[in-house]
Amino acid sequence: MKHIEFTATNGTFDINDFINRCDAATMGEELPPAPAPEPSPAPEEPLPAAGSVPVADGPDPITYSPLEEVIADLRMGKLILMTDDPHRENEVDLVCAGQFATPQNINFIATHARGLICVPMAHERVDSLGLPMQVQHNTEKLHTAFTVSVDAKEGITTGISAFERSITTMKLADPRCTLDDFVQPGHCFPLRAVEGGVIRRAGHTEGTVDILRIAGLEPVGVCCEIMKDDGTMARLGEMGSFQRKFGLKACSLAQIIEHRQHTETLVEREEKVKLPTDFGDFDCYAYHSKVDGKTHLALVHGEIDPEKPILCRVHSECLTGDVFASRRCDCGSQLHAAMRRVSQEGGIILYLRQEGRGIGLSAKLHAYKLQEQGYDTVDANIKLGYAPDLRDYGVGAQILRDLGVRHLRLLTNNPLKIQGLSGHGLDVVEHVPISIPAHAENRHYLDTKRDRMGHMI
Ligand SMILES: [Zn+2]
Repeated sequence: MKHIEFTATNGTFDINDFINRCDAATMGEELPPAPAPEPSPAPEEPLPAAGSVPVADGPDPITYSPLEEVIADLRMGKLILMTDDPHRENEVDLVCAGQFATPQNINFIATHARGLICVPMAHERVDSLGLPMQVQHNTEKLHTAFTVSVDAKEGITTGISAFERSITTMKLADPRCTLDDFVQPGHCFPLRAVEGGVIRRAGHTEGTVDILRIAGLEPVGVCCEIMKDDGTMARLGEMGSFQRKFGLKACSLAQIIEHRQHTETLVEREEKVKLPTDFGDFDCYAYHSKVDGKTHLALVHGEIDPEKPILCRVHSECLTGDVFASRRCDCGSQLHAAMRRVSQEGGIILYLRQEGRGIGLSAKLHAYKLQEQGYDTVDANIKLGYAPDLRDYGVGAQILRDLGVRHLRLLTNNPLKIQGLSGHGLDVVEHVPISIPAHAENRHYLDTKRDRMGHMI
């Protein structure tokens, strides 16, 4: 048998040893325990700064760790737990680095997670291998991007044992392997992460690839959903005992998103023009966001002094309110009142293209329809399957910082906005309410915002 020395980026692995073990397994011999992989050496670059650590709800909730502790475990070849948003799949995956996809790790995942064992891969790696996608037109709800399945060409009998799936996965993680090292179809299921990672798609595929990149490991991992003994999928509110039993660290996709928002530049200034308006004269800055591919605007009146607090309105696009002066909400009136005030006192109108609290225009109109049937604005979004407020202020915070803003006097009635910006290195020194008179058509909407969303109206 040909001897192949398998070397991962961090740590060394002798793949021939596995191949011998697989041969032994098929001969019915008892397997000696496989050696643990060498842990990766201490990182040269510093670990990420501590971000916020979420708290899960539920009868037996998961305990999250700071991201740097989770990363340290991944670098040592250990398994970790990764959760997505409770409003998305609400699933808990077991994850490890592909270069540490040892037979023990694969066997543990097959035994205790019991979902489909997948191999999330950076899009560059999938493309350089030339792995074709499983289907041309993806109709699955969350657009899970399966490539064709593969097995390693050498060292494989049927491809399904933990030893053989380990060989295939470690080869997928080895940048020196090419498509010739694999056969199709097989028993390993690569997934192609979207370009931009968790910032563009908050799924376990992107979360796995992103956290491995942050850890300085090969951006190819293993993930598998955890299924309970009764056959239903485990929810993050009920995995605490499982986590303690096996001593696993856990992180959420939100932590990875937050880390990237703090450490990467996600907006790019594209253009600056004069914008005279009915409400005053502004300098209009266009910013391209890598997060959503959209162009956001900042209207600035007067000079920005980083040392001094500046009046600022962070406004989320509302086409019906801003353009058509819809009376279903108070967005248009708030925007115009803010523009008048900023043009008098100096300041910024930040206009973020996140329609309908982030759910999009058509979804907002569906929600309006539900409101016509008696739901309030919060319940209508929940019934449509959205969190009550998906707006993301990370992009807004990056634009404000690029404009030189450090201290804000925020023109808002929404306390969530204050929290959302304060977490991004901006100091909100004052909350300046905008008072807009209510009228018959929006009174119920404004009451809901006050009573259910904590708005200060
Ligand atoms: Zn509106």
